[in-house]
Amino acid sequence: MKTELICVGTELLLGNILNTNAKYLAEKCAELGLSLYYQTVVGDNDARLAEMIKAAFERSDVVIFTGGLGPTSDDITKEVVSETFGLPLVYDEKAADDLTKRLKRLGVSITENNFKQAYVPEGSVVLYNHNGTAPGILIEKNGKIAILLPGPPKEMQPMFEEYCVPFFKECSGLEIDSVMVKLIGIGESSAASKIEDIIEKNTNPTVAPYAKQSQVHLRITARAESSEACRALIDPVLAEIKARLGEYIYTTDAEKDIEDVVYELLKEKNLTITTAESCTGGLLAGKIINVSGASDVYKEGFVTYSDEAKMKDLGVSKETLEKFSAVSSQCAEEMARGAAKAAGADVSVVTTGIAGPEGGSEENPVGTVYIGVYYDGQTMVKRYSFGNNRQMVRDAACVRALDMVRRAII
Ligand code: AMP
Ligand code: MG
Repeated sequence: MKTELICVGTELLLGNILNTNAKYLAEKCAELGLSLYYQTVVGDNDARLAEMIKAAFERSDVVIFTGGLGPTSDDITKEVVSETFGLPLVYDEKAADDLTKRLKRLGVSITENNFKQAYVPEGSVVLYNHNGTAPGILIEKNGKIAILLPGPPKEMQPMFEEYCVPFFKECSGLEIDSVMVKLIGIGESSAASKIEDIIEKNTNPTVAPYAKQSQVHLRITARAESSEACRALIDPVLAEIKARLGEYIYTTDAEKDIEDVVYELLKEKNLTITTAESCTGGLLAGKIINVSGASDVYKEGFVTYSDEAKMKDLGVSKETLEKFSAVSSQCAEEMARGAAKAAGADVSVVTTGIAGPEGGSEENPVGTVYIGVYYDGQTMVKRYSFGNNRQMVRDAACVRALDMVRRAII
């Protein structure tokens, strides 16, 4: 089905907020096998919105709208779409009831304009909103489909999952299944070039690479009569990708990040971990502790930003710091051993580097980070260069540090 997206809101046009709904819905359309050909942003203006709707339905079968379903007079999406379809707005008891209950629960006083949200185009399917007051709407008329979703992502996304995903699956009569292959340690273009023939040859399943922060994700998506049939299409392609890129793959579970995988490995092997951080300054510990249950594997860690702290907390020697400086593999090595000892942990992971923008030198330019991992009596240190954006250097260092732990343990 030819599909397009219209995001309504003057705040989007002015650049006050980022159009994350477009990103989310575009990815979903791809997953669902909808051919998304256009995305438009239009302000809260009824004439221009009406013009867009007309153009959209001339060229597309499905138009998905977000935004402009609120209670205020600048929220006009429902009114303008209903008019285009020639559908009167009718009062929906359940929507009104939901609205009253929600506002009461929140202790918000109800005003007359709230009930504007309880009116829906006659004959439409109401997508009741469990996370806000504006119901969504699905209209099917004359072979065209309009879907109206609220603007706030926290309301829009669960509504799309609950109503639209099953709706589109039923339309196509096919199941859609996908696997997300997540890689660290290889760039998007080298990953893609190693599997170029697989990407080009396959249309079902499709293989699509995405570059993420210090990671590459490959989504393998299949469409078939059943989820078993989808898996049967996906599995050989996944096996081939594993054969070529296996060492970089840390998971094929879309829900998992590298810290989840590291946590599971530690837990499975009954190991504890500690961190000692210079340039990442707590970010790495924060990532590990983000995983629920982290206290099983993480007891304490160190932020040792100065040379003095590295000596005092980790027992890094003065000679090492004087001879090689804090940004050196020797220092990382001593930090790793020292941290494991001081915390009594089985594994330690440490960072020392130059996040910038100041502080770079000829031999250690901004972005140089040494990462050390201690495990089972051995220490491994690697030197990385992560570019020159402070935040990106710190984020990338955490991702690579966790991946080094993963590799060390397995
Ligand atoms: P609206 O439904 O138009 O009243 O939008 C309510 C709020 O949802 C806006 O103030 C934004 O914070 C958010 N929002 C609306 N449209 C988008 C969008 N396309 N992407 C991300 N957030 C949005
Ligand atoms: Mg708005």
